Amino acid sequence: MFFDTIDSPARRTAPPMRAHAAHAPMGALRTAEVCVVGAGYAGLSAALHLTQAGYDTVVLEAKTVGAGASGRNGGQVMPGFAADPHALLDSLGARQASALWALSVEAVAKTRALAGAGCDIDPRVAIVAADSTGHAEIERAVAVRRDMFGDRQIALHDASSLARAVAVANQHGGAIDARAFALDPRKYVQSLAMRVREAGARIHEASPALRLSRANGLWTVETPTGCVRAAHVVLAANIDNAGLAPNADRLAAPVRTFMLETAPSPLVGQALAGVAAGYDTTASLHYFRRTADGRLQFGGGGWPGRIAPPLADMYLRREMARVFPQLAHLPVVRQWSGLVDVTTDGLPRFARADGLIRLLGFCGHGIALATLAGQLVADAIDDQSDRLALFTRLDQKRNWPTAAGRTAQLAIQSFAPSMARFLKLASA
Ligand SMILES: Cc1cc2nc3c(=O)[nH]c(=O)nc-3n(C[C@H](O)[C@H](O)[C@H](O)COP(=O)(O)OP(=O)(O)OC[C@H]3O[C@@H](n4cnc5c(N)ncnc54)[C@H](O)[C@@H]3O)c2cc1C
Repeated sequence: MFFDTIDSPARRTAPPMRAHAAHAPMGALRTAEVCVVGAGYAGLSAALHLTQAGYDTVVLEAKTVGAGASGRNGGQVMPGFAADPHALLDSLGARQASALWALSVEAVAKTRALAGAGCDIDPRVAIVAADSTGHAEIERAVAVRRDMFGDRQIALHDASSLARAVAVANQHGGAIDARAFALDPRKYVQSLAMRVREAGARIHEASPALRLSRANGLWTVETPTGCVRAAHVVLAANIDNAGLAPNADRLAAPVRTFMLETAPSPLVGQALAGVAAGYDTTASLHYFRRTADGRLQFGGGGWPGRIAPPLADMYLRREMARVFPQLAHLPVVRQWSGLVDVTTDGLPRFARADGLIRLLGFCGHGIALATLAGQLVADAIDDQSDRLALFTRLDQKRNWPTAAGRTAQLAIQSFAPSMARFLKLASA
Protein backbone atom coordinates (compact mmCIF):
# COMPACT_ATOMS: atom_id res chain seq x y z
CA MET A 1 0.00 0.00 0.00
CA PHE A 2 1.68 3.20 -1.14
CA PHE A 3 0.01 5.14 1.61
CA ASP A 4 2.25 3.68 4.25
CA THR A 5 5.13 5.87 3.11
CA ILE A 6 5.52 9.52 3.93
CA ASP A 7 5.25 10.53 0.28
CA SER A 8 3.17 9.13 -2.49
CA PRO A 9 5.84 8.08 -5.05
CA ALA A 10 3.76 9.53 -7.89
CA ARG A 11 3.76 13.00 -6.38
CA ARG A 12 6.92 13.11 -4.31
CA THR A 13 8.17 16.67 -4.01
CA ALA A 14 9.43 16.87 -0.44
CA PRO A 15 12.14 14.73 1.07
CA PRO A 16 11.19 12.08 3.63
CA MET A 17 12.79 12.31 7.07
CA ARG A 18 16.47 11.70 6.37
CA ALA A 19 18.89 9.81 8.56
CA HIS A 20 21.27 12.21 10.37
CA ALA A 21 25.01 11.62 10.07
CA ALA A 22 25.38 11.82 13.87
CA HIS A 23 22.67 9.17 14.45
CA ALA A 24 24.63 5.99 13.66
CA PRO A 25 22.96 2.65 14.45
CA MET A 26 23.62 1.08 17.84
CA GLY A 27 26.88 -0.84 18.00
CA ALA A 28 27.86 -3.52 20.53
CA LEU A 29 26.99 -3.07 24.21
CA ARG A 30 26.34 0.30 25.80
CA THR A 31 25.43 1.14 29.37
CA ALA A 32 23.39 4.23 30.23
CA GLU A 33 21.20 5.46 33.05
CA VAL A 34 18.15 5.74 30.78
CA CYS A 35 17.31 4.09 27.47
CA VAL A 36 14.52 5.82 25.52
CA VAL A 37 12.80 3.79 22.78
CA GLY A 38 11.36 5.96 19.98
CA ALA A 39 12.47 9.34 18.57
CA GLY A 40 9.16 11.16 18.25
CA TYR A 41 8.08 14.08 20.43
CA ALA A 42 7.58 11.86 23.52
CA GLY A 43 10.95 10.10 23.37
CA LEU A 44 12.94 13.17 22.34
CA SER A 45 11.31 15.39 24.96
CA ALA A 46 12.03 12.75 27.64
CA ALA A 47 15.64 12.47 26.44
CA LEU A 48 16.07 16.24 26.41
CA HIS A 49 14.74 16.77 29.93
CA LEU A 50 16.61 13.75 31.31
CA THR A 51 19.90 14.85 29.76
CA GLN A 52 19.40 18.39 31.06
CA ALA A 53 18.83 16.88 34.52
CA GLY A 54 22.21 15.13 34.23
CA TYR A 55 21.13 11.61 33.22
CA ASP A 56 23.24 9.64 30.76
CA THR A 57 20.57 8.90 28.14
CA VAL A 58 20.51 6.88 24.92
CA VAL A 59 17.69 7.07 22.34
CA LEU A 60 16.94 4.07 20.10
CA GLU A 61 14.89 4.78 16.97
CA ALA A 62 13.72 1.99 14.65
CA LYS A 63 13.81 4.15 11.51
CA THR A 64 14.68 7.87 11.48
CA VAL A 65 13.86 10.76 13.82
CA GLY A 66 10.22 11.75 13.19
CA ALA A 67 9.45 8.68 11.06
CA GLY A 68 6.28 8.07 13.10
CA ALA A 69 3.35 10.37 13.82
CA SER A 70 5.64 13.22 14.90
CA GLY A 71 6.85 13.71 11.33
CA ARG A 72 3.45 13.23 9.70
CA ASN A 73 0.85 15.16 11.65
CA GLY A 74 -1.43 18.14 11.10
CA GLY A 75 0.61 20.53 13.26
CA GLN A 76 -2.26 21.74 15.49
CA VAL A 77 -1.22 22.38 19.07
CA MET A 78 -4.18 22.78 21.36
CA PRO A 79 -5.09 22.29 24.99
CA GLY A 80 -7.18 19.32 26.06
CA PHE A 81 -7.51 15.72 25.03
CA ALA A 82 -9.34 13.68 22.41
CA ALA A 83 -12.07 13.37 25.06
CA ASP A 84 -14.39 16.42 25.06
CA PRO A 85 -14.05 18.72 28.10
CA HIS A 86 -17.53 17.68 29.28
CA ALA A 87 -16.69 13.97 28.88
CA LEU A 88 -13.56 14.60 30.95
CA LEU A 89 -15.63 16.29 33.63
CA ASP A 90 -18.29 13.56 33.64
CA SER A 91 -15.83 10.68 33.86
CA LEU A 92 -13.22 12.12 36.25
CA GLY A 93 -15.04 14.71 38.36
CA ALA A 94 -14.22 18.41 38.70
CA ARG A 95 -10.95 18.13 40.65
CA GLN A 96 -9.15 15.57 38.50
CA ALA A 97 -10.56 16.94 35.25
CA SER A 98 -9.40 20.50 36.11
CA ALA A 99 -5.93 19.23 37.08
CA LEU A 100 -5.58 17.40 33.77
CA TRP A 101 -6.86 20.40 31.83
CA ALA A 102 -4.31 22.65 33.55
CA LEU A 103 -1.56 20.20 32.55
CA SER A 104 -2.75 20.30 28.94
CA VAL A 105 -2.60 24.12 29.01
CA GLU A 106 0.93 23.89 30.40
CA ALA A 107 1.74 21.44 27.59
CA VAL A 108 0.74 24.01 24.95
CA ALA A 109 2.90 26.72 26.55
CA LYS A 110 5.84 24.32 26.88
CA THR A 111 5.59 23.28 23.22
CA ARG A 112 5.51 26.92 22.13
CA ALA A 113 8.62 27.68 24.19
CA LEU A 114 10.52 24.60 22.98
CA ALA A 115 9.58 25.08 19.33
CA GLY A 116 10.89 28.66 19.41
CA ALA A 117 11.31 30.72 16.28
CA GLY A 118 12.29 28.10 13.70
CA CYS A 119 9.12 26.01 13.54
CA ASP A 120 6.68 28.37 11.74
CA ILE A 121 4.43 29.00 14.76
CA ASP A 122 1.14 30.50 13.58
CA PRO A 123 -1.55 31.48 16.10
CA ARG A 124 -5.26 30.54 16.46
CA VAL A 125 -7.14 27.36 15.65
CA ALA A 126 -10.82 27.15 14.60
CA ILE A 127 -13.26 24.44 15.64
CA VAL A 128 -15.89 24.31 12.91
CA ALA A 129 -19.43 23.00 13.50
CA ALA A 130 -20.51 20.85 10.56
CA ASP A 131 -24.18 20.99 11.65
CA SER A 132 -26.37 22.26 14.48
CA THR A 133 -25.55 19.22 16.64
CA GLY A 134 -21.87 20.04 16.19
CA HIS A 135 -22.52 23.63 17.21
CA ALA A 136 -24.32 22.51 20.38
CA GLU A 137 -21.37 20.23 21.22
CA ILE A 138 -18.91 23.09 20.74
CA GLU A 139 -21.06 25.39 22.92
CA ARG A 140 -21.03 22.76 25.67
CA ALA A 141 -17.28 22.28 25.42
CA VAL A 142 -16.63 26.03 25.53
CA ALA A 143 -18.89 26.43 28.57
CA VAL A 144 -17.03 23.71 30.49
CA ARG A 145 -13.65 25.16 29.53
CA ARG A 146 -14.62 28.66 30.64
CA ASP A 147 -16.78 27.92 33.69
CA MET A 148 -15.20 24.77 35.11
CA PHE A 149 -11.57 25.00 33.98
CA GLY A 150 -11.23 28.80 34.00
CA ASP A 151 -9.90 28.72 30.43
CA ARG A 152 -11.17 31.90 28.77
CA GLN A 153 -9.04 31.93 25.64
CA ILE A 154 -11.74 30.41 23.49
CA ALA A 155 -14.64 32.31 21.92
CA LEU A 156 -17.84 31.14 20.25
CA HIS A 157 -18.69 32.42 16.75
CA ASP A 158 -21.83 32.28 14.67
CA ALA A 159 -21.57 31.20 11.04
CA SER A 160 -21.07 34.68 9.58
CA SER A 161 -18.39 35.75 12.04
CA LEU A 162 -16.55 32.40 11.69
CA ALA A 163 -16.64 32.77 7.90
CA ARG A 164 -14.49 35.89 8.19
CA ALA A 165 -11.73 33.79 9.79
CA VAL A 166 -12.07 30.54 7.85
CA ALA A 167 -13.92 30.01 4.58
CA VAL A 168 -15.16 26.40 4.71
CA ALA A 169 -18.35 25.22 3.02
CA ASN A 170 -21.54 24.41 4.91
CA GLN A 171 -20.40 25.46 8.37
CA HIS A 172 -22.72 26.20 11.29
CA GLY A 173 -20.46 28.49 13.30
CA GLY A 174 -18.01 27.24 15.90
CA ALA A 175 -15.22 28.59 18.07
CA ILE A 176 -11.74 30.08 17.80
CA ASP A 177 -9.13 29.01 20.30
CA ALA A 178 -6.64 31.84 20.81
CA ARG A 179 -4.35 29.72 23.01
CA ALA A 180 -3.98 27.04 20.32
CA PHE A 181 -1.53 27.46 17.45
CA ALA A 182 -0.10 25.59 14.51
CA LEU A 183 3.52 24.71 13.75
CA ASP A 184 5.51 22.77 11.19
CA PRO A 185 5.58 19.32 12.81
CA ARG A 186 8.63 18.12 10.92
CA LYS A 187 10.68 21.18 11.81
CA TYR A 188 9.60 20.75 15.44
CA VAL A 189 10.71 17.12 15.69
CA GLN A 190 14.03 17.93 14.00
CA SER A 191 14.62 20.85 16.37
CA LEU A 192 13.94 18.61 19.37
CA ALA A 193 16.48 16.09 18.04
CA MET A 194 19.03 18.89 17.61
CA ARG A 195 18.48 20.01 21.21
CA VAL A 196 18.88 16.42 22.42
CA ARG A 197 22.20 16.13 20.57
CA GLU A 198 23.36 19.49 21.88
CA ALA A 199 22.44 18.47 25.43
CA GLY A 200 24.77 15.50 24.99
CA ALA A 201 22.54 12.44 24.50
CA ARG A 202 23.15 9.89 21.73
CA ILE A 203 20.38 9.13 19.21
CA HIS A 204 20.74 5.87 17.27
CA GLU A 205 18.63 5.60 14.11
CA ALA A 206 17.97 2.28 12.32
CA SER A 207 18.10 0.70 15.79
CA PRO A 208 14.78 -0.97 16.61
CA ALA A 209 14.36 -2.29 20.14
CA LEU A 210 13.55 -5.95 19.62
CA ARG A 211 13.31 -7.31 23.16
CA LEU A 212 13.40 -6.09 26.74
CA SER A 213 14.60 -8.18 29.66
CA ARG A 214 15.42 -7.40 33.27
CA ALA A 215 18.05 -8.90 35.59
CA ASN A 216 19.73 -7.62 38.77
CA GLY A 217 17.79 -4.34 38.69
CA LEU A 218 18.92 -3.47 35.15
CA TRP A 219 17.03 -3.55 31.86
CA THR A 220 18.62 -4.86 28.69
CA VAL A 221 17.19 -3.51 25.45
CA GLU A 222 18.29 -5.57 22.44
CA THR A 223 18.62 -4.20 18.92
CA PRO A 224 19.86 -6.09 15.81
CA THR A 225 23.35 -4.57 16.18
CA GLY A 226 23.87 -4.17 19.90
CA CYS A 227 22.15 -3.64 23.21
CA VAL A 228 21.73 -1.02 25.90
CA ARG A 229 21.79 -1.83 29.61
CA ALA A 230 20.04 0.79 31.74
CA ALA A 231 18.31 1.24 35.09
CA HIS A 232 15.38 3.00 33.41
CA VAL A 233 13.62 2.42 30.10
CA VAL A 234 11.12 4.86 28.57
CA LEU A 235 8.90 3.21 25.96
CA ALA A 236 7.87 5.99 23.57
CA ALA A 237 7.30 3.94 20.42
CA ASN A 238 3.67 5.03 20.09
CA ILE A 239 1.44 2.24 18.76
CA ASP A 240 4.53 0.02 18.34
CA ASN A 241 4.87 -0.08 22.14
CA ALA A 242 2.42 -2.96 21.70
CA GLY A 243 5.25 -5.27 20.62
CA LEU A 244 7.39 -4.37 23.64
CA ALA A 245 5.09 -3.88 26.64
CA PRO A 246 2.74 -6.52 27.99
CA ASN A 247 -0.94 -5.96 27.09
CA ALA A 248 -0.21 -2.66 25.32
CA ASP A 249 -2.21 -3.85 22.31
CA ARG A 250 -5.33 -3.74 24.47
CA LEU A 251 -4.63 -0.20 25.67
CA ALA A 252 -4.58 1.62 22.33
CA ALA A 253 -5.78 0.67 18.86
CA PRO A 254 -4.06 1.79 15.63
CA VAL A 255 -6.20 4.04 13.44
CA ARG A 256 -4.83 5.29 10.12
CA THR A 257 -5.51 8.91 9.16
CA PHE A 258 -4.69 10.58 5.83
CA MET A 259 -3.19 13.89 4.73
CA LEU A 260 -2.48 15.82 1.56
CA GLU A 261 -0.65 19.02 0.66
CA THR A 262 -1.48 21.37 -2.20
CA ALA A 263 0.76 23.59 -4.27
CA PRO A 264 1.10 27.10 -2.82
CA SER A 265 -1.57 29.65 -3.72
CA PRO A 266 -2.73 33.04 -2.40
CA LEU A 267 -6.20 31.45 -2.19
CA VAL A 268 -5.04 29.39 0.81
CA GLY A 269 -4.28 32.52 2.82
CA GLN A 270 -7.68 33.90 1.85
CA ALA A 271 -9.44 30.68 2.95
CA LEU A 272 -7.67 30.76 6.32
CA ALA A 273 -7.54 34.52 6.77
CA GLY A 274 -8.00 34.67 10.54
CA VAL A 275 -6.71 31.32 11.81
CA ALA A 276 -3.63 29.18 11.24
CA ALA A 277 -5.54 25.92 11.23
CA GLY A 278 -8.79 24.23 12.15
CA TYR A 279 -10.80 21.05 12.40
CA ASP A 280 -14.47 20.18 12.15
CA THR A 281 -17.06 18.11 14.00
CA THR A 282 -17.71 15.53 11.24
CA ALA A 283 -17.12 11.85 11.98
CA SER A 284 -14.33 11.97 9.36
CA LEU A 285 -12.67 14.71 11.46
CA HIS A 286 -11.34 16.98 8.72
CA TYR A 287 -8.33 19.04 9.83
CA PHE A 288 -6.38 21.66 7.93
CA ARG A 289 -3.48 24.10 8.23
CA ARG A 290 -1.97 26.83 6.09
CA THR A 291 1.79 26.41 5.73
CA ALA A 292 4.30 29.25 5.91
CA ASP A 293 4.78 29.07 2.12
CA GLY A 294 1.05 29.26 1.34
CA ARG A 295 0.05 25.60 0.89
CA LEU A 296 -3.00 23.87 2.33
CA GLN A 297 -2.38 20.73 4.37
CA PHE A 298 -5.64 18.84 4.75
CA GLY A 299 -6.32 15.63 6.65
CA GLY A 300 -9.14 13.39 7.63
CA GLY A 301 -10.70 9.97 7.55
CA GLY A 302 -9.98 7.22 9.98
CA TRP A 303 -9.43 3.60 9.13
CA PRO A 304 -9.15 1.14 12.02
CA GLY A 305 -6.07 -1.07 11.75
CA ARG A 306 -2.65 -0.61 10.23
CA ILE A 307 -3.44 -1.28 6.58
CA ALA A 308 -4.59 1.60 4.38
CA PRO A 309 -7.80 1.10 2.39
CA PRO A 310 -7.77 1.28 -1.41
CA LEU A 311 -8.39 4.68 -3.02
CA ALA A 312 -7.64 6.59 0.17
CA ASP A 313 -5.89 9.29 -1.89
CA MET A 314 -8.97 9.89 -4.04
CA TYR A 315 -11.21 9.84 -0.95
CA LEU A 316 -9.18 12.56 0.73
CA ARG A 317 -9.04 14.79 -2.35
CA ARG A 318 -12.84 14.59 -2.60
CA GLU A 319 -13.21 15.44 1.07
CA MET A 320 -10.91 18.46 0.62
CA ALA A 321 -13.00 19.63 -2.34
CA ARG A 322 -16.19 19.33 -0.24
CA VAL A 323 -14.74 21.39 2.60
CA PHE A 324 -12.79 23.92 0.47
CA PRO A 325 -14.51 23.99 -2.96
CA GLN A 326 -12.60 27.18 -3.82
CA LEU A 327 -9.30 25.25 -3.49
CA ALA A 328 -10.41 22.06 -5.28
CA HIS A 329 -8.50 22.97 -8.45
CA LEU A 330 -5.12 23.32 -6.67
CA PRO A 331 -2.62 20.58 -7.58
CA VAL A 332 -2.08 18.04 -4.79
CA VAL A 333 1.67 17.58 -4.52
CA ARG A 334 1.99 15.13 -1.64
CA GLN A 335 -0.17 12.59 0.14
CA TRP A 336 0.70 10.45 3.13
CA SER A 337 -0.85 8.82 6.15
CA GLY A 338 0.04 7.90 9.71
CA LEU A 339 -1.16 5.91 12.67
CA VAL A 340 -2.92 7.36 15.70
CA ASP A 341 -2.98 5.45 19.01
CA VAL A 342 -6.65 5.52 20.00
CA THR A 343 -7.89 4.59 23.47
CA THR A 344 -11.51 3.84 24.41
CA ASP A 345 -11.99 7.12 26.30
CA GLY A 346 -9.66 9.55 24.49
CA LEU A 347 -7.26 9.68 27.46
CA PRO A 348 -3.62 8.55 27.51
CA ARG A 349 -2.43 5.27 29.01
CA PHE A 350 0.85 5.87 30.86
CA ALA A 351 2.37 3.35 33.24
CA ARG A 352 5.40 3.18 35.51
CA ALA A 353 6.77 0.07 37.25
CA ASP A 354 10.22 -1.44 37.96
CA GLY A 355 12.10 1.32 36.15
CA LEU A 356 9.96 0.96 33.01
CA ILE A 357 7.80 3.87 31.87
CA ARG A 358 5.36 3.43 28.99
CA LEU A 359 3.79 6.40 27.16
CA LEU A 360 0.82 5.59 24.95
CA GLY A 361 -2.63 6.76 23.88
CA PHE A 362 -2.19 10.37 22.72
CA CYS A 363 -5.21 9.82 20.43
CA GLY A 364 -4.26 12.41 17.80
CA HIS A 365 -3.59 15.11 20.43
CA GLY A 366 0.04 14.30 21.01
CA ILE A 367 2.09 17.31 19.90
CA ALA A 368 1.69 19.16 23.17
CA LEU A 369 0.90 16.17 25.40
CA ALA A 370 3.84 14.06 24.26
CA THR A 371 6.11 17.08 24.72
CA LEU A 372 4.89 17.55 28.28
CA ALA A 373 4.96 13.79 28.95
CA GLY A 374 8.71 13.88 28.30
CA GLN A 375 9.18 16.42 31.07
CA LEU A 376 6.90 14.50 33.45
CA VAL A 377 8.96 11.34 32.81
CA ALA A 378 12.22 13.16 33.57
CA ASP A 379 10.76 14.72 36.73
CA ALA A 380 9.50 11.32 37.90
CA ILE A 381 12.83 9.54 37.31
CA ASP A 382 14.69 12.43 38.97
CA ASP A 383 12.26 12.41 41.93
CA GLN A 384 11.44 16.08 41.26
CA SER A 385 7.69 15.59 41.03
CA ASP A 386 5.22 12.81 40.54
CA ARG A 387 2.89 14.65 38.20
CA LEU A 388 3.22 11.66 35.87
CA ALA A 389 1.03 9.86 38.42
CA LEU A 390 -1.88 12.14 37.48
CA PHE A 391 -1.93 10.07 34.31
CA THR A 392 -0.78 6.68 35.57
CA ARG A 393 -3.58 6.83 38.17
CA LEU A 394 -6.26 7.20 35.47
CA ASP A 395 -8.71 4.35 35.34
CA GLN A 396 -7.05 1.78 33.11
CA LYS A 397 -9.93 -0.65 33.08
CA ARG A 398 -11.69 0.78 30.03
CA ASN A 399 -9.46 -0.96 27.54
CA TRP A 400 -10.07 -2.56 24.17
CA PRO A 401 -11.03 -6.22 24.01
CA THR A 402 -9.12 -8.45 21.55
CA ALA A 403 -7.55 -6.98 18.40
CA ALA A 404 -10.47 -8.10 16.22
CA GLY A 405 -13.00 -6.84 18.77
CA ARG A 406 -11.44 -3.39 18.99
CA THR A 407 -11.32 -2.99 15.19
CA ALA A 408 -15.01 -3.87 14.93
CA GLN A 409 -15.90 -1.58 17.84
CA LEU A 410 -13.95 1.34 16.37
CA ALA A 411 -15.46 0.80 12.94
CA ILE A 412 -18.99 0.78 14.29
CA GLN A 413 -18.64 3.52 16.91
CA SER A 414 -16.50 6.14 15.32
CA PHE A 415 -15.56 5.70 11.75
CA ALA A 416 -18.61 4.19 10.02
CA PRO A 417 -19.38 7.31 7.91
CA SER A 418 -15.86 7.77 6.58
CA MET A 419 -15.46 4.02 6.01
CA ALA A 420 -18.75 3.99 4.10
CA ARG A 421 -17.46 6.77 1.84
CA PHE A 422 -14.15 4.91 1.26
CA LEU A 423 -16.05 1.74 0.34
CA LYS A 424 -18.44 3.59 -1.95
CA LEU A 425 -15.46 4.99 -3.87
CA ALA A 426 -13.81 1.57 -4.03
CA SER A 427 -16.90 -0.05 -5.52
CA ALA A 428 -17.67 2.80 -7.98
C1 LIG B 1 -1.76 12.14 10.21
C2 LIG B 1 -1.70 12.56 11.66
C3 LIG B 1 -2.17 13.82 12.03
C4 LIG B 1 -2.07 14.23 13.37
N1 LIG B 1 -2.41 15.52 13.68
C5 LIG B 1 -2.18 15.98 14.94
C6 LIG B 1 -2.39 17.34 15.26
O1 LIG B 1 -2.76 18.17 14.41
N2 LIG B 1 -2.20 17.73 16.57
C7 LIG B 1 -1.76 16.86 17.52
O2 LIG B 1 -1.58 17.26 18.68
N3 LIG B 1 -1.50 15.57 17.23
C8 LIG B 1 -1.69 15.11 15.97
N4 LIG B 1 -1.41 13.80 15.66
C9 LIG B 1 -0.90 12.94 16.71
C10 LIG B 1 0.58 13.22 17.04
O3 LIG B 1 1.32 13.30 15.85
C11 LIG B 1 1.09 12.10 17.93
O4 LIG B 1 0.24 11.97 19.06
C12 LIG B 1 2.51 12.34 18.41
O5 LIG B 1 3.36 12.60 17.32
C13 LIG B 1 2.97 11.11 19.19
O6 LIG B 1 4.34 11.23 19.44
P1 LIG B 1 5.13 9.94 19.93
O7 LIG B 1 6.51 10.37 20.20
O8 LIG B 1 4.36 9.28 21.03
O9 LIG B 1 5.05 8.90 18.71
P2 LIG B 1 5.77 8.87 17.29
O10 LIG B 1 6.01 10.20 16.73
O11 LIG B 1 4.98 7.91 16.45
O12 LIG B 1 7.19 8.26 17.61
C14 LIG B 1 7.40 6.91 17.91
C15 LIG B 1 8.72 6.51 17.30
O13 LIG B 1 9.07 5.22 17.76
C16 LIG B 1 9.71 4.53 16.71
N5 LIG B 1 9.64 3.09 16.99
C17 LIG B 1 8.61 2.24 16.80
N6 LIG B 1 8.94 1.01 17.21
C18 LIG B 1 10.21 1.09 17.68
C19 LIG B 1 11.11 0.15 18.23
N7 LIG B 1 10.78 -1.14 18.39
N8 LIG B 1 12.35 0.57 18.60
C20 LIG B 1 12.72 1.88 18.43
N9 LIG B 1 11.90 2.80 17.91
C21 LIG B 1 10.65 2.42 17.55
C22 LIG B 1 8.95 4.97 15.46
O14 LIG B 1 9.71 4.77 14.28
C23 LIG B 1 8.70 6.44 15.78
O15 LIG B 1 9.70 7.28 15.24
C24 LIG B 1 -1.55 13.34 14.35
C25 LIG B 1 -1.12 12.07 13.99
C26 LIG B 1 -1.18 11.67 12.65
C27 LIG B 1 -0.69 10.30 12.28
